[in-house]
Amino acid sequence: MIDVEKLVEKVEVLKDVVNLKPTVWINPNKKCDKEAWKDISLSEEDIYEAEERLRRFAPLLIRYFEDSRKTNGIIESPLRKIQSMETSIREISDFQGELFLKMDSHLAVAGSIKARGGIYEVLYHAEKLALENNLITLDDDYSELANEKNREFFSKHTIQVGSTGNLGLSIGITSATLGFNVVVHMSSDAQEWKKDLLRSKGATVIEYDGDFTAAVEEGRKKSAEDPMSYFIDDENSITLFMGYAVAALRIRKQMEELNIKVDENHPAFFYIPCGVGGSPGGVSFGLKKLFGDNAHIFFVEPTHSPSMLIGMATGLHEKVSVKDFGIDGKTKADGLAVGTPSRFVGTVMDTLLSGIFTIEDKKLFDYMRALDKSEGIRIEPSACSTFEGPIKLFQYDDTRKYLEENNLIDKLTNISHITWATGGNLVPDEIMESYLRTYL
Ligand SMILES: *Cc1c(COP(=O)(O)O)cnc(C)c1O
Repeated sequence: MIDVEKLVEKVEVLKDVVNLKPTVWINPNKKCDKEAWKDISLSEEDIYEAEERLRRFAPLLIRYFEDSRKTNGIIESPLRKIQSMETSIREISDFQGELFLKMDSHLAVAGSIKARGGIYEVLYHAEKLALENNLITLDDDYSELANEKNREFFSKHTIQVGSTGNLGLSIGITSATLGFNVVVHMSSDAQEWKKDLLRSKGATVIEYDGDFTAAVEEGRKKSAEDPMSYFIDDENSITLFMGYAVAALRIRKQMEELNIKVDENHPAFFYIPCGVGGSPGGVSFGLKKLFGDNAHIFFVEPTHSPSMLIGMATGLHEKVSVKDFGIDGKTKADGLAVGTPSRFVGTVMDTLLSGIFTIEDKKLFDYMRALDKSEGIRIEPSACSTFEGPIKLFQYDDTRKYLEENNLIDKLTNISHITWATGGNLVPDEIMESYLRTYL
């Protein structure tokens, strides 16, 4: 049994968490320089390998996905300075520095950050099968995989995944397009339109009454019963993680193009919405590998679903659920509605992560309207949580202390704040309109 009272006594921030009060947890285990990497076996090489694999698949992606053509089959999103949003944020906070938006909301194929890890792992699996069965060699033009004979080969194989929605979309669309059989196990929080879209692409969608954790568990079990089936495991997959990590190589280049300096005097702060942890974890791993101590990374979670915060702050990871703390897990940020975090991600992030903010649902819609009004950019509710970071960084005592302890007080105006828009492009217009009219 989890002794919540004792945990709350030990970790002060959990008092706010239990009371559903928006807060910030500063990670006391964060380490600097080499110390940070002592217990992490994943390497920078792994990221380059993933990047190479994506390059090999570019010709195939061009063939299948029209929206990947203008970037030559490399699926990447813009990084944009959002000056008008910055101005509106300055009106409600003591914000200092410059504000940017990483628009994974507009990634090709899946319209969310899941286009990184999800597509990557499907391609990884397809390549493995294709090489083992001599359909291609590493040097071939991979667009050959779209030939009828090769598609028929893939159709004998099944890919399964558990999802709150966007990962299912990413893996479902990619798998079905390559010719695989695909089964997506969806939690009850998943949006109807996401299920409909998947079915229209030929995926089988199975719905569960329970939450995300239950859907993953069922999917894992069903897949294990079928020797021709491969399960993409959002909680444990290193492959998925590395697909996300490639984002760091890409954004480093984009930051150079925008003259965003990152060094000791020019820190970069990243704010990434977090559910089970896979996508923000993978991206952060890459960012910390490339930028080291000059990258400061914060996750953001809903007050009603702060699973990574609870998992990391108690060190109990997947052994603890928000339900143990009497928290219902119900949030309009459907992509973040996860009750139990990934141990794998929580463990890797233990010495890397700066902290985690929690945000109330009503703020999601306020930020959504602010971004729409100031920049004309629409992103989904889960993604809007990112703005809590740069606003609250300048408001909480604990973040103030973080800035002091990291010797950043005299560098505040030099900070580049990068908010990570994790999804939105596939949201149907009328649903986006209804979000913009939502006041909680
Ligand atoms: C999945 C998702 C996240 C969080 O990713 P996890 O890998 O579950 O932590 C954030 N925002 C959106 C829009 C998502 O779809």
